Amino acid sequence: MQHYDVLIVGGGHSGAQAAIALRQAKFEGSVAIIGDETEYPYERPPLSKDYFAGDKAFERIMIRPPAFWAERSITMLMGKRVESVDPVAHQVAFSDGEQIGYGQLIWAAGGSPRRLMCDGSQLAGVHVVRNKSDVDAMMAELDDVARVAIIGGGYIGLEAAAVLRKLGKEVVVLEAMDRVLARVAGEELSRFFEAEHRAHGVDVRLGVTVESLTGDHHVDGVLLGDGEHIAAQMVIVGIGIVPAIAPLLNAGAAGGAGVDVDEYCRTSLPDVFAIGDCAAHANSFAGGVIMRVESVQNANDMANAVAKSIAGELTAYHSVPWFWSNQYDLRLQTVGLSVGYDDHVVRGDPAARSFSVIYLKAGRVIALDCVNMTKDYVQGKALVTEGLRFTKEQLADTTIPLKELSAGTASN
Ligand SMILES: Cc1cc2nc3c(=O)[nH]c(=O)nc-3n(C[C@H](O)[C@H](O)[C@H](O)COP(=O)(O)OP(=O)(O)OC[C@H]3O[C@@H](n4cnc5c(N)ncnc54)[C@H](O)[C@@H]3O)c2cc1C
Repeated sequence: MQHYDVLIVGGGHSGAQAAIALRQAKFEGSVAIIGDETEYPYERPPLSKDYFAGDKAFERIMIRPPAFWAERSITMLMGKRVESVDPVAHQVAFSDGEQIGYGQLIWAAGGSPRRLMCDGSQLAGVHVVRNKSDVDAMMAELDDVARVAIIGGGYIGLEAAAVLRKLGKEVVVLEAMDRVLARVAGEELSRFFEAEHRAHGVDVRLGVTVESLTGDHHVDGVLLGDGEHIAAQMVIVGIGIVPAIAPLLNAGAAGGAGVDVDEYCRTSLPDVFAIGDCAAHANSFAGGVIMRVESVQNANDMANAVAKSIAGELTAYHSVPWFWSNQYDLRLQTVGLSVGYDDHVVRGDPAARSFSVIYLKAGRVIALDCVNMTKDYVQGKALVTEGLRFTKEQLADTTIPLKELSAGTASN
C-alpha cells in the first residue's frame, strides 16, 4: 500500500496551495494530491469569466505549469475519487478498494454544485459551473443557443450572464429572492448590479420560483411558479454548493453544513485537517460566527496556515477575507465580511459607476464592497483589520482618503 506523510484530498485551490506551501516551508516528507478531476490544479474564478468568454486559454489558468509538481516531489494522483476515510488506520480508500495510507490528511475537497430537485433538472442542456469540464460542455453547445436562462442571481450566475451578453446571447436571470447577490451583499450593491445587468439587456426576474424545467430530452425552457414559461435552449443553475464532506462525516468527523475545524483548521479526527470551501470555522472577521467562506483567499490562507503547522510552526488561520468579481467593465473588490452589519455608508456615486459601500457593526468598519474603486479597497483593508470606528460622515467624505482615516486622524 502506498503511504504519504501528507496526503491531500482535492486538487483545487486549497489542495494545490497546501502542497506548494509545504515545500516553501521546507517540509521534506512525502506529499501527494488526490484529485477527482483529470486536470492538474487550475484557477476556478476564470471559469465564469475570461475562460468562459474564450479570452483565456486553459494553460493560462493553471495554478502551476504541469512540470512544477514533479520538480517539487509532489505526487499527483489525478482522476481518482476518495470514497472513505479510516481515521484509526490512517487510510483513505477508493471505490475499487485500493487504499492509501497517510501520516496527516488535508481534506481540501471543496463542494459540488447544488442541483435543482424539480422535474426536468436532468435534461440535456442544463448546466452547472464548478469545473473546467462543466464550462467546456457549455461552450461546446453555445453555437446552437440563442437564449439562456440562468437560475440564481449570485456571483456565478451574474458573471455568466455578463459573459453570455458579450457573446451575443439573450439572457434571463431568475432569482428567488427580491434582489440579486442577496446572500453576500447589501441592498445598494444588489440594486446597482441589477440595474447594470438590465442596462446590458439582461432580463432580471426577482422573487420568482422555478416549478420545473421543460423539454423532451433537451431543455427548452423554465416553467415558473406563477405559470409563466421562459423559453431557453440552455439553463445554467448557479444556486450554491454542497460541501464535499461525506467521507469525513461518515468517518465520525464533527460537522454538518461543513466539516468543523478549529482555529488551526484541525477537524475532530486525529491528524485530519480541512481547508477551503468545505471547512466550517469560527471566522474572527465575522465576530466568531461559524461559517464556510467560498473564496480563493480563504482557500489559500487556510492552506498556508496548515502547511506551516505541519512543517513545525503551529499557525492559526486568521486572515482578513477578500474577494472579487468581474462583470462587464465593473471590478468589484470586497474586503471583510458584511454578515451581521447594522449600518452602512455609500462612499462615492453609484451613478458614476465608481463607489464603495462600507459596512458597519456597532460603529466599527467590518467590510467594504468597492466597485471600480481599487484605492478604497486597498486602503480600507486597515479599517477592517483594525476594526476602527469613524463617523458615517467621515467615511462618506470622498475628499478624505481612507488611509488618512486609518492613519489615526479620527477617533478609535
Ligand atoms: C465559477 C466560479 C467562479 C469563482 N469566482 C471566484 C472569484 O472571482 N473570487 C474568489 O475569491 N473566488 C471565486 N470562486 C470560489 C473559489 O474558486 C473557491 O472558493 C475555491 O476554488 C475553493 O477552493 P477549494 O480547494 O476549497 O475547492 P476546489 O477549488 O473546488 O477544489 C476541490 C477539488 O476537490 C475535488 N474533490 C472533491 N471531492 C473529492 C474526493 N472525494 N476525492 C478526490 N477529489 C475530490 C474536486 O473535484 C475539486 O477538484 C469561484 C468559484 C467558481 C466555481
